[in-house]
Amino acid sequence: MLTSRASMSPAIDLRSDTLTVPDEQLRRAISRASVGDDCFGEDPTIRELEYRCTELLGCEAAIFMPTGTFSNQVAIRVHTQPGDELITDADYHVNFYESAQTAAMAGVAINAIRTTDGILTPELVDQALGSKPRGCLYAEPKLLCLENTINAHGGRVFPFARLAAVSEHATRAGLAVHLDGARLFNASAASGVPLHEYGRIVDTISVCFAKGLGAPFGSVLAGTSQAINRARRARKWMGGALHQGGFMAAGALHALEHNTAQLHDDHLHARVLAQLLAQDPSLGIDPAQVQTNVVIIDLSATGWAPDAFVAEAQRNGVLMMRWVGTRVRAVTSSNVTEADVRAAADRILDLVAVRAA
Ligand SMILES: *Cc1c(COP(=O)(O)O)cnc(C)c1O
Repeated sequence: MLTSRASMSPAIDLRSDTLTVPDEQLRRAISRASVGDDCFGEDPTIRELEYRCTELLGCEAAIFMPTGTFSNQVAIRVHTQPGDELITDADYHVNFYESAQTAAMAGVAINAIRTTDGILTPELVDQALGSKPRGCLYAEPKLLCLENTINAHGGRVFPFARLAAVSEHATRAGLAVHLDGARLFNASAASGVPLHEYGRIVDTISVCFAKGLGAPFGSVLAGTSQAINRARRARKWMGGALHQGGFMAAGALHALEHNTAQLHDDHLHARVLAQLLAQDPSLGIDPAQVQTNVVIIDLSATGWAPDAFVAEAQRNGVLMMRWVGTRVRAVTSSNVTEADVRAAADRILDLVAVRAA
């Protein structure tokens, strides 16, 4: 764990919810896992996790994946051919972090929509579909990728009715629909929409166990039996079929069983952080917009350059991640307590006040 130079006490780590490390019980669950060779369909723990996820997500079938990126890339292969077009929001993970992989490995062109809030609508999908004439000269649109919660927009929950509406519209327009639900557990905890509701409105869903649920690795891609059969083939081709992967699945199962309540604490802590930071209007934070575990701080009115701010905060024992432009991201997780976020808010407010003085 990083320590701050000033105090030598452990730093308050708000960089990401992927930085959680497994506790003793989770380590024990991994070490005791029953395993077999999943390439022969004989790993009982992977099979149990996949079965649990079909029920949990309301899907016909599910397949274990090493990471969320792996799930997204396999989903893209399942729904497209090289030369096809994928429609998504420019700020979603699939474009922001995965545009190069998608181009290089799936051979798919991304038609990225710019929005102010990350909420794709039927009208925006129609605009993307109509952004060029279609026909043999042009890429053929095949897939709409959605995201929930929306990381780049402060962990915003995509309201379920709007998600269902845009998905239904895309299906009618002949597109497959993939939902990147790396933080779907957060969306469900915050909105009260049961996870299984999502399975009936999209073709495939990915979830991550290594975010707020605190497992060290693992993701699942769920969907129709046909989609998941194709995903099995794509995963093998990409080198992602794990032999005794039950050790990984055991961590995910343990996290599902024991760590979902933590998400409510994480959301509370993010709200406390946002409420405290909102005391300084120059940070432009509206606590009502903080729905899950992400707080985006915009430094544009503070006089701070983001790199200098992140470095100075680190010297004061608060770790955050630089985002794009003048924005910095703070994420709550089991790494931080309410006392931690209160202390972090004090130090951040001090830094902003020093620059303003
Ligand atoms: C974290 C994340 C992923 C996948 O991340 P991995 O590090 O590959 O597990 C995908 N989509 C979103 C929205 C994410 O936040």
